[in-house]
Amino acid sequence: MSEEKKEDAHLDNSSALATSLPHPDGFFGADKTYGGAFVPPPLEPIMKNVAEEYEKAKIDPQFLADLANLRKTYIGRPSPIYHCQNLSKKLGGAQIYLKREDLNHTGSHKINHCLGEALLARQMGKTKLIAETGAGQHGVALATAAALMQMECEIHMGEIDIKKEWPNVRRMQILGAKVVPATHGGKSLKEAVDSAFQAYMGDPEHMLFAIGSTVGPHPFPMMVRDFQAIVGFEAKEQFQEIAGPGKAPDILLACVGGGCNSLGLFTAFLDDPNVKLIGVEPAGHGLDKGEGHHSATLTLGKPAVLHGMKCYTLLNSQGDPASVHSCASGLDYPGVGPEHSFLKDAARVQYETATDEEVIDAFFELSRSEGIIPALESAHALAYAMKIAKDMPEDKKLLVNMSGRGDKDLDYVCDLHGDQYGIGKEGIFAGPTKHSK
Ligand SMILES: *Cc1c(COP(=O)(O)O)cnc(C)c1O
Repeated sequence: MSEEKKEDAHLDNSSALATSLPHPDGFFGADKTYGGAFVPPPLEPIMKNVAEEYEKAKIDPQFLADLANLRKTYIGRPSPIYHCQNLSKKLGGAQIYLKREDLNHTGSHKINHCLGEALLARQMGKTKLIAETGAGQHGVALATAAALMQMECEIHMGEIDIKKEWPNVRRMQILGAKVVPATHGGKSLKEAVDSAFQAYMGDPEHMLFAIGSTVGPHPFPMMVRDFQAIVGFEAKEQFQEIAGPGKAPDILLACVGGGCNSLGLFTAFLDDPNVKLIGVEPAGHGLDKGEGHHSATLTLGKPAVLHGMKCYTLLNSQGDPASVHSCASGLDYPGVGPEHSFLKDAARVQYETATDEEVIDAFFELSRSEGIIPALESAHALAYAMKIAKDMPEDKKLLVNMSGRGDKDLDYVCDLHGDQYGIGKEGIFAGPTKHSK
Protein backbone atom coordinates (compact mmCIF):
# COMPACT_ATOMS: atom_id res chain seq x y z
CA MET A 1 0.00 0.00 0.00
CA SER A 2 1.22 3.50 -0.74
CA GLU A 3 1.65 5.98 2.11
CA GLU A 4 -1.45 7.89 1.09
CA LYS A 5 -3.64 4.81 0.81
CA LYS A 6 -2.59 3.76 4.30
CA GLU A 7 -3.55 7.13 5.73
CA ASP A 8 -6.98 6.95 4.09
CA ALA A 9 -7.70 3.39 5.06
CA HIS A 10 -8.80 4.11 8.61
CA LEU A 11 -11.74 6.30 7.61
CA ASP A 12 -12.96 3.76 5.08
CA ASN A 13 -15.48 1.18 6.12
CA SER A 14 -12.71 -1.25 6.91
CA SER A 15 -13.93 -4.40 8.63
CA ALA A 16 -12.86 -3.07 12.02
CA LEU A 17 -14.76 0.20 11.70
CA ALA A 18 -17.78 -1.57 10.20
CA THR A 19 -18.17 -3.75 13.28
CA SER A 20 -19.19 -0.67 15.20
CA LEU A 21 -20.93 1.49 12.63
CA PRO A 22 -24.18 2.81 14.11
CA HIS A 23 -27.50 2.60 12.27
CA PRO A 24 -28.22 5.63 10.07
CA ASP A 25 -30.30 7.12 12.92
CA GLY A 26 -27.25 6.92 15.21
CA PHE A 27 -28.25 3.95 17.38
CA PHE A 28 -25.65 1.28 18.14
CA GLY A 29 -26.25 -2.47 18.09
CA ALA A 30 -28.99 -4.74 16.79
CA ASP A 31 -31.55 -3.73 19.42
CA LYS A 32 -30.75 0.00 19.05
CA THR A 33 -30.65 0.63 22.77
CA TYR A 34 -27.96 3.34 22.85
CA GLY A 35 -27.21 6.51 20.91
CA GLY A 36 -29.66 8.37 18.71
CA ALA A 37 -30.14 12.12 18.48
CA PHE A 38 -32.43 13.48 21.19
CA VAL A 39 -32.41 17.18 20.27
CA PRO A 40 -35.03 19.96 20.17
CA PRO A 41 -36.98 19.97 16.85
CA PRO A 42 -35.23 23.10 15.43
CA LEU A 43 -31.89 21.29 15.74
CA GLU A 44 -33.00 18.09 14.00
CA PRO A 45 -32.29 19.32 10.45
CA ILE A 46 -28.99 20.84 11.61
CA MET A 47 -27.77 17.52 13.06
CA LYS A 48 -28.94 15.69 9.92
CA ASN A 49 -26.93 18.15 7.84
CA VAL A 50 -23.79 17.61 9.94
CA ALA A 51 -24.23 13.84 9.52
CA GLU A 52 -24.68 14.11 5.74
CA GLU A 53 -21.70 16.43 5.32
CA TYR A 54 -19.55 14.14 7.44
CA GLU A 55 -20.55 11.10 5.35
CA LYS A 56 -19.34 13.01 2.29
CA ALA A 57 -16.15 14.24 3.95
CA LYS A 58 -15.03 10.83 5.13
CA ILE A 59 -14.73 9.59 1.55
CA ASP A 60 -13.56 12.89 0.06
CA PRO A 61 -9.90 12.45 -1.03
CA GLN A 62 -9.12 16.15 -0.45
CA PHE A 63 -10.54 16.13 3.09
CA LEU A 64 -8.63 12.95 3.91
CA ALA A 65 -5.41 14.29 2.42
CA ASP A 66 -5.71 17.53 4.42
CA LEU A 67 -6.33 15.56 7.59
CA ALA A 68 -3.44 13.17 6.93
CA ASN A 69 -1.09 16.09 6.27
CA LEU A 70 -2.07 17.91 9.46
CA ARG A 71 -1.71 14.76 11.51
CA LYS A 72 1.83 14.41 10.31
CA THR A 73 3.06 18.01 10.22
CA TYR A 74 0.96 19.65 12.93
CA ILE A 75 0.11 17.01 15.55
CA GLY A 76 3.38 15.14 15.04
CA ARG A 77 1.83 11.74 14.26
CA PRO A 78 2.45 8.88 14.36
CA SER A 79 2.93 8.92 18.12
CA PRO A 80 5.41 6.24 19.21
CA ILE A 81 4.84 3.09 21.22
CA TYR A 82 7.22 2.92 24.17
CA HIS A 83 8.21 -0.18 26.17
CA CYS A 84 8.34 0.57 29.92
CA GLN A 85 11.23 -1.76 30.74
CA ASN A 86 12.02 -0.37 34.20
CA LEU A 87 8.42 -0.46 35.33
CA SER A 88 7.75 -3.92 33.86
CA LYS A 89 10.87 -5.33 35.52
CA LYS A 90 9.92 -3.79 38.84
CA LEU A 91 6.42 -5.30 38.71
CA GLY A 92 7.88 -8.64 37.66
CA GLY A 93 5.09 -9.70 35.32
CA ALA A 94 3.69 -8.75 31.90
CA GLN A 95 5.40 -6.14 29.72
CA ILE A 96 3.80 -2.68 29.77
CA TYR A 97 3.84 -0.55 26.62
CA LEU A 98 2.49 2.99 26.18
CA LYS A 99 0.91 4.60 23.12
CA ARG A 100 2.32 8.10 23.53
CA GLU A 101 -0.63 10.43 22.79
CA ASP A 102 0.90 12.69 25.45
CA LEU A 103 3.53 13.68 22.87
CA ASN A 104 0.94 15.21 20.51
CA HIS A 105 0.87 18.98 19.97
CA THR A 106 -1.19 20.45 22.88
CA GLY A 107 -0.36 17.41 25.02
CA SER A 108 -3.22 14.96 24.59
CA HIS A 109 -5.35 12.93 22.20
CA LYS A 110 -8.00 15.68 22.03
CA ILE A 111 -6.29 17.46 19.12
CA ASN A 112 -7.05 14.36 16.97
CA HIS A 113 -10.78 15.05 16.85
CA CYS A 114 -10.59 18.84 17.21
CA LEU A 115 -8.68 19.10 13.93
CA GLY A 116 -11.20 16.78 12.26
CA GLU A 117 -14.16 18.79 13.53
CA ALA A 118 -12.54 22.10 12.53
CA LEU A 119 -11.76 20.80 9.03
CA LEU A 120 -15.36 19.64 8.63
CA ALA A 121 -16.69 22.98 9.89
CA ARG A 122 -14.53 24.81 7.37
CA GLN A 123 -15.69 22.51 4.57
CA MET A 124 -19.33 23.20 5.56
CA GLY A 125 -18.74 26.95 5.35
CA LYS A 126 -19.20 27.51 9.10
CA THR A 127 -17.36 30.49 10.52
CA LYS A 128 -17.33 29.68 14.21
CA LEU A 129 -16.54 26.77 16.52
CA ILE A 130 -18.32 26.62 19.83
CA ALA A 131 -17.89 24.18 22.72
CA GLU A 132 -17.98 23.69 26.45
CA THR A 133 -14.96 22.72 28.48
CA GLY A 134 -14.48 21.37 32.00
CA ALA A 135 -10.82 21.54 32.94
CA GLY A 136 -10.03 23.40 29.72
CA GLN A 137 -8.26 20.59 27.82
CA HIS A 138 -10.87 20.33 25.07
CA GLY A 139 -11.13 24.12 25.01
CA VAL A 140 -7.41 24.52 24.43
CA ALA A 141 -7.31 21.86 21.70
CA LEU A 142 -10.30 23.42 19.94
CA ALA A 143 -8.93 26.96 20.26
CA THR A 144 -5.73 25.63 18.68
CA ALA A 145 -7.61 24.06 15.75
CA ALA A 146 -9.65 27.26 15.32
CA ALA A 147 -6.50 29.41 15.17
CA LEU A 148 -5.06 27.06 12.57
CA MET A 149 -8.24 27.20 10.43
CA GLN A 150 -8.62 30.94 11.01
CA MET A 151 -12.09 30.48 12.47
CA GLU A 152 -13.79 32.18 15.40
CA CYS A 153 -13.91 30.17 18.58
CA GLU A 154 -16.10 30.50 21.67
CA ILE A 155 -15.54 28.29 24.71
CA HIS A 156 -18.04 28.14 27.58
CA MET A 157 -16.59 27.30 30.96
CA GLY A 158 -18.00 27.27 34.49
CA GLU A 159 -16.93 30.16 36.71
CA ILE A 160 -15.52 27.74 39.27
CA ASP A 161 -13.49 25.89 36.62
CA ILE A 162 -12.16 29.20 35.28
CA LYS A 163 -10.70 29.96 38.70
CA LYS A 164 -9.36 26.41 39.12
CA GLU A 165 -7.86 26.03 35.64
CA TRP A 166 -6.55 29.54 35.08
CA PRO A 167 -3.52 28.62 32.88
CA ASN A 168 -5.83 26.93 30.36
CA VAL A 169 -8.06 30.02 30.28
CA ARG A 170 -5.00 32.09 29.41
CA ARG A 171 -3.96 29.58 26.73
CA MET A 172 -7.36 29.82 25.06
CA GLN A 173 -7.30 33.60 25.18
CA ILE A 174 -3.79 33.77 23.77
CA LEU A 175 -4.93 31.49 20.94
CA GLY A 176 -7.66 34.01 20.13
CA ALA A 177 -10.69 32.21 21.58
CA LYS A 178 -13.42 33.96 23.54
CA VAL A 179 -13.93 32.34 26.94
CA VAL A 180 -17.50 32.77 28.21
CA PRO A 181 -18.10 32.12 31.93
CA ALA A 182 -21.13 30.03 32.92
CA THR A 183 -22.34 31.80 36.03
CA HIS A 184 -25.56 29.98 36.93
CA GLY A 185 -26.24 26.94 39.14
CA GLY A 186 -23.17 24.92 40.11
CA LYS A 187 -21.01 27.05 37.75
CA SER A 188 -19.22 23.96 36.44
CA LEU A 189 -19.21 21.57 33.43
CA LYS A 190 -22.94 20.88 33.28
CA GLU A 191 -23.72 24.63 33.32
CA ALA A 192 -21.04 25.20 30.67
CA VAL A 193 -22.84 22.68 28.42
CA ASP A 194 -26.17 24.50 28.99
CA SER A 195 -24.58 27.86 28.31
CA ALA A 196 -22.76 26.74 25.14
CA PHE A 197 -25.90 25.01 23.90
CA GLN A 198 -27.96 28.15 24.39
CA ALA A 199 -25.42 30.25 22.50
CA TYR A 200 -25.30 27.64 19.72
CA MET A 201 -29.11 27.67 19.37
CA GLY A 202 -28.85 31.38 18.59
CA ASP A 203 -27.09 30.74 15.26
CA PRO A 204 -26.58 27.05 14.44
CA GLU A 205 -26.32 27.84 10.71
CA HIS A 206 -22.94 29.51 11.08
CA MET A 207 -21.51 27.52 13.98
CA LEU A 208 -20.43 23.96 14.66
CA PHE A 209 -20.89 22.73 18.21
CA ALA A 210 -17.60 20.83 18.36
CA ILE A 211 -18.31 18.19 21.01
CA GLY A 212 -15.28 17.11 23.06
CA SER A 213 -15.74 13.34 23.17
CA THR A 214 -17.68 10.39 21.72
CA VAL A 215 -20.86 11.75 23.29
CA GLY A 216 -23.90 13.84 22.36
CA PRO A 217 -26.37 13.35 19.51
CA HIS A 218 -25.57 11.46 16.29
CA PRO A 219 -23.27 11.89 14.35
CA PHE A 220 -20.84 13.07 17.06
CA PRO A 221 -20.18 9.75 18.84
CA MET A 222 -19.38 8.11 15.49
CA MET A 223 -17.50 11.05 14.01
CA VAL A 224 -15.28 11.71 17.03
CA ARG A 225 -14.59 7.94 17.22
CA ASP A 226 -13.56 7.88 13.56
CA PHE A 227 -11.18 10.83 14.02
CA GLN A 228 -9.64 9.14 17.08
CA ALA A 229 -9.39 5.70 15.46
CA ILE A 230 -6.03 6.67 13.94
CA VAL A 231 -4.53 5.88 17.36
CA GLY A 232 -5.40 2.18 17.15
CA PHE A 233 -4.68 1.79 13.44
CA GLU A 234 -1.20 3.18 14.02
CA ALA A 235 -0.72 0.99 17.08
CA LYS A 236 -1.72 -2.13 15.14
CA GLU A 237 1.04 -1.54 12.59
CA GLN A 238 3.63 -0.38 15.11
CA PHE A 239 3.06 -3.41 17.28
CA GLN A 240 3.88 -5.75 14.43
CA GLU A 241 7.24 -4.02 14.10
CA ILE A 242 7.80 -4.68 17.81
CA ALA A 243 6.44 -8.21 18.15
CA GLY A 244 6.43 -9.65 14.63
CA PRO A 245 4.02 -9.92 11.68
CA GLY A 246 0.42 -10.57 12.67
CA LYS A 247 1.13 -10.03 16.36
CA ALA A 248 -1.07 -7.80 18.54
CA PRO A 249 -0.92 -6.85 22.23
CA ASP A 250 -2.66 -9.31 24.56
CA ILE A 251 -4.58 -6.55 26.34
CA LEU A 252 -5.33 -2.91 25.51
CA LEU A 253 -6.17 -0.52 28.34
CA ALA A 254 -7.51 3.05 28.31
CA CYS A 255 -9.32 5.35 30.72
CA VAL A 256 -12.99 6.12 30.04
CA GLY A 257 -14.58 9.53 30.59
CA GLY A 258 -16.78 10.29 27.59
CA GLY A 259 -14.87 7.53 25.89
CA CYS A 260 -12.93 8.89 22.94
CA ASN A 261 -9.32 7.99 23.72
CA SER A 262 -10.39 4.44 24.58
CA LEU A 263 -12.43 4.01 21.40
CA GLY A 264 -9.54 5.59 19.53
CA LEU A 265 -7.25 2.78 20.66
CA PHE A 266 -9.82 -0.06 20.67
CA THR A 267 -11.58 0.38 17.32
CA ALA A 268 -8.86 -1.13 15.12
CA PHE A 269 -8.85 -4.25 17.34
CA LEU A 270 -12.60 -4.73 17.87
CA ASP A 271 -12.75 -7.51 15.27
CA ASP A 272 -9.79 -9.42 16.76
CA PRO A 273 -11.17 -11.70 19.51
CA ASN A 274 -7.63 -12.49 20.71
CA VAL A 275 -7.16 -8.94 21.96
CA LYS A 276 -8.75 -8.23 25.31
CA LEU A 277 -10.03 -4.65 25.78
CA ILE A 278 -10.27 -3.00 29.18
CA GLY A 279 -11.79 0.43 29.88
CA VAL A 280 -10.94 1.96 33.26
CA GLU A 281 -13.35 4.30 35.07
CA PRO A 282 -12.76 6.46 38.15
CA ALA A 283 -13.66 4.83 41.46
CA GLY A 284 -12.66 8.15 43.09
CA HIS A 285 -12.79 7.84 46.88
CA GLY A 286 -14.23 4.31 46.51
CA LEU A 287 -17.32 2.83 44.83
CA ASP A 288 -18.80 2.00 48.24
CA LYS A 289 -18.72 5.69 49.29
CA GLY A 290 -21.80 6.42 47.17
CA GLU A 291 -22.99 9.32 45.03
CA GLY A 292 -20.59 12.19 44.56
CA HIS A 293 -17.53 10.09 45.41
CA HIS A 294 -16.88 8.32 42.10
CA SER A 295 -17.60 8.56 38.40
CA ALA A 296 -17.97 4.89 37.45
CA THR A 297 -20.78 5.31 34.93
CA LEU A 298 -20.59 1.95 33.14
CA THR A 299 -19.93 0.07 36.36
CA LEU A 300 -22.84 1.51 38.38
CA GLY A 301 -25.05 3.52 35.97
CA LYS A 302 -28.36 2.83 34.23
CA PRO A 303 -29.52 3.59 30.68
CA ALA A 304 -31.04 7.09 30.37
CA VAL A 305 -31.13 10.05 27.99
CA LEU A 306 -28.41 12.64 28.64
CA HIS A 307 -27.08 15.46 26.45
CA GLY A 308 -28.84 14.25 23.29
CA MET A 309 -27.98 10.54 23.52
CA LYS A 310 -29.17 7.39 25.27
CA CYS A 311 -26.34 5.94 27.34
CA TYR A 312 -25.37 4.53 30.73
CA THR A 313 -25.84 7.38 33.23
CA LEU A 314 -25.27 7.85 36.94
CA LEU A 315 -28.55 9.12 38.40
CA ASN A 316 -29.40 10.47 41.84
CA SER A 317 -32.51 9.51 43.83
CA GLN A 318 -34.56 12.16 41.97
CA GLY A 319 -33.62 10.58 38.65
CA ASP A 320 -31.39 13.51 37.64
CA PRO A 321 -27.74 13.17 36.59
CA ALA A 322 -25.78 12.45 39.77
CA SER A 323 -22.92 14.53 41.10
CA VAL A 324 -19.63 12.81 40.39
CA HIS A 325 -16.02 12.90 41.53
CA SER A 326 -12.63 11.94 40.19
CA CYS A 327 -9.16 13.33 40.84
CA ALA A 328 -9.01 13.59 37.02
CA SER A 329 -11.33 16.36 35.87
CA GLY A 330 -11.43 14.92 32.34
CA LEU A 331 -13.22 11.86 33.67
CA ASP A 332 -15.87 13.30 36.00
CA TYR A 333 -18.91 13.04 33.80
CA PRO A 334 -22.16 11.25 34.81
CA GLY A 335 -22.67 9.86 31.28
CA VAL A 336 -20.56 7.95 28.77
CA GLY A 337 -20.58 7.47 25.00
CA PRO A 338 -23.34 5.27 23.52
CA GLU A 339 -20.85 2.98 21.77
CA HIS A 340 -19.28 2.09 25.12
CA SER A 341 -22.76 1.43 26.52
CA PHE A 342 -23.30 -0.97 23.62
CA LEU A 343 -19.86 -2.59 23.99
CA LYS A 344 -20.51 -3.20 27.67
CA ASP A 345 -23.79 -5.01 27.02
CA ALA A 346 -22.14 -6.93 24.15
CA ALA A 347 -19.35 -7.89 26.60
CA ARG A 348 -16.71 -6.97 24.00
CA VAL A 349 -15.03 -4.52 26.40
CA GLN A 350 -14.50 -5.20 30.09
CA TYR A 351 -14.96 -2.15 32.37
CA GLU A 352 -12.95 -1.85 35.55
CA THR A 353 -12.16 0.97 37.98
CA ALA A 354 -9.20 2.60 39.74
CA THR A 355 -9.38 4.69 42.92
CA ASP A 356 -7.80 8.15 43.30
CA GLU A 357 -5.22 6.59 45.60
CA GLU A 358 -4.19 3.95 43.05
CA VAL A 359 -4.07 6.66 40.39
CA ILE A 360 -1.76 8.94 42.39
CA ASP A 361 0.49 5.95 43.05
CA ALA A 362 0.62 5.12 39.30
CA PHE A 363 1.29 8.81 38.53
CA PHE A 364 4.43 8.79 40.70
CA GLU A 365 5.45 5.28 39.67
CA LEU A 366 5.60 6.16 35.97
CA SER A 367 7.24 9.52 36.65
CA ARG A 368 10.00 7.96 38.72
CA SER A 369 10.58 4.67 36.94
CA GLU A 370 10.36 5.95 33.33
CA GLY A 371 10.64 9.75 33.45
CA ILE A 372 7.15 10.19 32.00
CA ILE A 373 4.61 12.29 33.93
CA PRO A 374 1.14 11.07 32.93
CA ALA A 375 -2.15 12.98 32.99
CA LEU A 376 -4.25 11.83 35.97
CA GLU A 377 -6.83 10.59 33.45
CA SER A 378 -4.29 8.34 31.72
CA ALA A 379 -2.93 7.22 35.10
CA HIS A 380 -6.27 5.43 35.67
CA ALA A 381 -5.52 3.05 32.79
CA LEU A 382 -1.93 2.64 33.97
CA ALA A 383 -3.01 1.94 37.56
CA TYR A 384 -5.19 -0.95 36.45
CA ALA A 385 -2.50 -2.23 34.07
CA MET A 386 0.02 -2.27 36.92
CA LYS A 387 -2.44 -4.16 39.10
CA ILE A 388 -2.94 -7.01 36.60
CA ALA A 389 0.57 -7.06 35.06
CA LYS A 390 2.09 -8.34 38.31
CA ASP A 391 0.22 -11.64 38.09
CA MET A 392 0.77 -12.25 34.39
CA PRO A 393 3.64 -14.13 32.66
CA GLU A 394 6.59 -12.04 31.41
CA ASP A 395 5.88 -12.78 27.75
CA LYS A 396 2.41 -11.15 27.86
CA LYS A 397 2.09 -7.61 26.51
CA LEU A 398 -0.18 -4.81 27.73
CA LEU A 399 -0.64 -1.63 25.71
CA VAL A 400 -1.86 1.40 27.68
CA ASN A 401 -3.13 4.54 25.99
CA MET A 402 -1.13 7.41 27.50
CA SER A 403 -3.91 9.86 26.54
CA GLY A 404 -2.17 12.98 27.87
CA ARG A 405 0.70 14.48 29.81
CA GLY A 406 0.49 15.50 33.43
CA ASP A 407 1.70 19.11 33.27
CA LYS A 408 -1.80 20.36 34.08
CA ASP A 409 -1.92 18.22 37.24
CA LEU A 410 1.34 19.17 38.96
CA ASP A 411 -0.05 21.66 41.49
CA TYR A 412 -3.03 19.49 42.38
CA VAL A 413 -0.87 16.42 42.96
CA CYS A 414 1.86 18.22 44.93
CA ASP A 415 -0.58 20.20 47.10
CA LEU A 416 -2.62 17.15 48.07
CA HIS A 417 -0.14 14.29 47.99
CA GLY A 418 3.35 15.80 47.83
CA ASP A 419 4.34 14.97 51.39
CA GLN A 420 3.63 11.24 50.88
CA TYR A 421 6.14 11.27 48.04
CA GLY A 422 8.88 13.34 49.61
CA ILE A 423 7.94 16.70 48.06
CA GLY A 424 8.49 19.52 50.53
CA LYS A 425 5.95 22.26 51.19
CA GLU A 426 8.01 24.44 53.51
CA GLY A 427 9.82 27.69 52.83
CA ILE A 428 10.53 28.33 49.19
CA PHE A 429 8.72 25.07 48.33
CA ALA A 430 5.46 26.36 49.84
CA GLY A 431 3.97 27.09 46.45
CA PRO A 432 4.12 29.35 43.43
CA THR A 433 5.06 32.98 44.04
CA LYS A 434 2.29 35.39 43.15
CA HIS A 435 3.53 37.84 40.57
CA SER A 436 3.11 41.54 41.30
CA LYS A 437 3.05 44.28 38.70
C1 LIG B 1 -10.38 14.67 28.27
C2 LIG B 1 -9.37 13.66 28.59
C3 LIG B 1 -9.72 12.30 28.80
C4 LIG B 1 -11.13 11.80 28.85
O1 LIG B 1 -11.85 11.85 27.69
P1 LIG B 1 -12.21 10.58 26.82
O2 LIG B 1 -13.22 11.10 25.86
O3 LIG B 1 -12.81 9.53 27.73
O4 LIG B 1 -10.98 10.11 26.17
C5 LIG B 1 -8.69 11.37 29.01
N1 LIG B 1 -7.41 11.75 29.04
C6 LIG B 1 -7.03 13.05 28.86
C7 LIG B 1 -5.58 13.39 28.90
C8 LIG B 1 -8.00 14.04 28.62
O5 LIG B 1 -7.62 15.31 28.44
